[in-house]
Amino acid sequence: MGGRKSGRVWAAAAVVLLAALTGVGLWRTAGGPPNLVAITSEPEGIMGTSCQLSAVVVLGQAGRAREALTAAEAELRRVEALMSTWIEGSEISRLNHAPPGEAVPLSRESRFVLGRARQLARETGGAFDVTCRPLVELWRRAGKRDELPSAEELAAALSLVGWREIRLEPGGAVKAAAGARVDLGGIAKGYGIDLAAEAMQAAAGLRGGLVDVGGDLRLFGQAPTPEGWVAAIRSPAGDAVWAEITLSGGAVCTSGHALRFETIEGRRYSHIIDPRSGRPASGTVSVTVVGPTALDADAWATALSVLGPEGLERLEGAPGIEALVISRGEGGLRADLSPGFPELRPGPGFPATILRH
Ligand code: AMP
Ligand code: MG
Repeated sequence: MGGRKSGRVWAAAAVVLLAALTGVGLWRTAGGPPNLVAITSEPEGIMGTSCQLSAVVVLGQAGRAREALTAAEAELRRVEALMSTWIEGSEISRLNHAPPGEAVPLSRESRFVLGRARQLARETGGAFDVTCRPLVELWRRAGKRDELPSAEELAAALSLVGWREIRLEPGGAVKAAAGARVDLGGIAKGYGIDLAAEAMQAAAGLRGGLVDVGGDLRLFGQAPTPEGWVAAIRSPAGDAVWAEITLSGGAVCTSGHALRFETIEGRRYSHIIDPRSGRPASGTVSVTVVGPTALDADAWATALSVLGPEGLERLEGAPGIEALVISRGEGGLRADLSPGFPELRPGPGFPATILRH
């Protein structure tokens, strides 16, 4: 992932545009705030995707910046070790494999994310539901064997989905059925980004910072360039920058079908499942969400991929969350924006129909 064009760098979906850099880099800002430099790192093997961390400091404070980057990286790895379903011994894997009725002890962090996920299931009318793991597995298996799931298989998986299957307790969680499982793939990355950004913010001497994991970002403070923090929204199909927005802080997360899908019987299916029907979300091409925290932006991007543009109404109950939903309409692609979404600078190829609600 990560392409390069006109000296700008971007990752999966949205990324803050910085002057050309590779690996751990240091540069002086040309015409920017005086004597500010950005020290960056690109740690590998984090959450199965690319990662770019950037700490903005006054020239001469590179040591402090490096300490902050190390702390941020450690937070990302810690959250992944707790919550990834790709890691056998993670807390969430242990919960998934536990027998029904057994209390599984969980860290404060896992309990916090599960608690927020349960609230978000309510706020999104069930469109975001981390208990949908049995469906995620069903559609992954269908992709591997290249055959659509049968009605019986679908009904069996659906019967295991829902918050009645998981009880959160003060020290952990208990499952009702052996086959009930959770999947934090739509929220844990955002949470890790938040903790990483907060670790950087707590470090002494930082003027600003950026955490970018696979194109989901959180940033704070001063940008290293005079334009401020400019996030590029990438076209779902290719590497083109579709639109740009300027931000002063907070998070930007994108869910798109272009990079992650299963092909079954010659058709592409999204990796995002509608937990209400049990079928992959369709109709939405990509969703970009801005908000104060990456946890909420990440989850809402997944939820709105299920809900489509009609789901924007639900943001009234979610202060600070704003979204851009690109969907397939009758006359081609269309872009729907919530009222407070930052001013959008569309580039070539961006949908001609732009509706601000
Ligand atoms: P994202 O790429 O952030 O939209 O997250 C997608 C991932 O979240 C998928 O790969 C699944 O692991 C999980 N997921 C899929 N559908 C849902 C859903 N409706 N609610 C919560 N998590 C989901
Ligand atoms: Mg998400």
